[in-house]
Amino acid sequence: MRILLVEDDPLLGDGLTIGLRQSGFAVDWLKDGHSADLALQSEHFDLLVLDLGLPKMTGMEALQRARSRGNTLPVLVLTARDATGDKIAGLDAGADDYLVKPIDLDELSARIRALLRRSAGRAAPVLSVGQISLDPAAHLVTLEGKPVDLAGREFALLQLLLENAGRVLSRSQIEQSLYGWRDEPDSNALEVHIHHLRKKLGSERIRTLRGVGYMVPK
Ligand code: CA
Repeated sequence: MRILLVEDDPLLGDGLTIGLRQSGFAVDWLKDGHSADLALQSEHFDLLVLDLGLPKMTGMEALQRARSRGNTLPVLVLTARDATGDKIAGLDAGADDYLVKPIDLDELSARIRALLRRSAGRAAPVLSVGQISLDPAAHLVTLEGKPVDLAGREFALLQLLLENAGRVLSRSQIEQSLYGWRDEPDSNALEVHIHHLRKKLGSERIRTLRGVGYMVPK
């Protein structure tokens, strides 16, 4: 899952980027509202974490502009302590949730998982398709009840395929969700991850549709 983080405080931005990457998200970090506005017009993100007090364009304006273009991505705003007006204005401008600084990383990750779950039209925290179960919070995958050891990118890829079970995902859809700007994939990276997932889960569980993409059957 690819997250756009917009935060002008260098220490906080750096800490959140590292922490969210450790939680398995692909993170792109921008430091002003204008860059965020441009990125949201040209790239696909699964979720936006947005500071409101930003240089060049406020977070509120960037959010309003995204919503007025019809962008429906889940948005979590970061607000200063005691800025009750900010919370209300942020929610009314189209944010889905907010978190007050100082940010607790575990809470941020949990709220992000909840928002992603809802935006995928799902309420249950664990994804189950056939004999495969994936728990994003515990970072655990089981096959027929037995734990399966997956590398970070394999886990993210499997989660994406399970979220879309029964639907074909194209290579570019998968790559957009799995990789940020700093980690552009090798041309065959996706095939390698798919190969590993098939070895660990059984080859029949991920279908290749030549020239179209990949799918986990429901
Ligand atoms: Ca700020």
